[in-house]
Amino acid sequence: MNIILLGPPGAGKGTQAHRLVAEQGMVQLSTGDMLRAARTSGTEMGKQVAAVMDRGELVTDEIVIGLIAEQLDSDASSGFIFDGFPRTLTQADALGALLESKGQTLEAVVEMQVDDEALVERITGRFTCGACGTGYHDSFKKPDVEGKCDNCGAEGTFKRRPDDNEDALRTRLFAYYKDTSPLIGYYYAKDKLKRIDGLGEIEEVAGQINTALDL
Ligand code: ADP
Ligand code: ADP
Ligand code: ZN
Repeated sequence: MNIILLGPPGAGKGTQAHRLVAEQGMVQLSTGDMLRAARTSGTEMGKQVAAVMDRGELVTDEIVIGLIAEQLDSDASSGFIFDGFPRTLTQADALGALLESKGQTLEAVVEMQVDDEALVERITGRFTCGACGTGYHDSFKKPDVEGKCDNCGAEGTFKRRPDDNEDALRTRLFAYYKDTSPLIGYYYAKDKLKRIDGLGEIEEVAGQINTALDL
């Protein structure tokens, strides 16, 4: 089952994708994570996108479509979770064509609805374990032991994203409403859209997603 998690920055896509990977054995394809990995490893493409990402603007369709295309032959018998991709209509068309060329289908697009005020709170308190990628929050998801990752046990690996600041967040939200929100209508018309209330607690949101996907 291949699904898309669609929602504004901070909606909880990464959090729910991680859970679905652990519980269902699905494979998460996050273009944000791929782009950050390219920056860390210092590839030419990574250098090219760094400033764009830090401002909160979208990187080019060509780059992210290329990143996804490279991954679609991975072994994913339980399906892919597209997290943060597609973000434009061009990307959505490209994904449709790529899946079709592999004889694959898209099962559902889960739209996680969260209002702007909650997004600001989520983004400004977000941090992640640099060793395993588990996400945390200053108020909503603290590690059991301060400074230590619950998932992998690493210490001193927590980090915050350079684009999780108010200025970049404003730009990211604008990009979401302008370029990405048209995908809601696009997938509604294809009868793929499942809308869920992303404002509840992490466990509640998980339950809603499972119900929407018949899990
Ligand atoms: P968020 O957690 O805000 O949803 P991501 O980690 O998905 O953010 O993405 C971080 C940044 O990476 C974006 O602001 C954008 O610059 C770039 N990016 C990620 N995915 C895409 C995409 N599909 N198209 C264009 N840019 C992308
Ligand atoms: P996205 O991938 O959509 O940008 P994340 O999954 O990284 O969003 O979540 C953003 C922040 O909000 C993280 O710090 C995460 O721990 C926290 N978070 C995620 N889901 C919820 C929720 N349902 N309630 C409160 N906080 C949440
Ligand atoms: Zn960890």
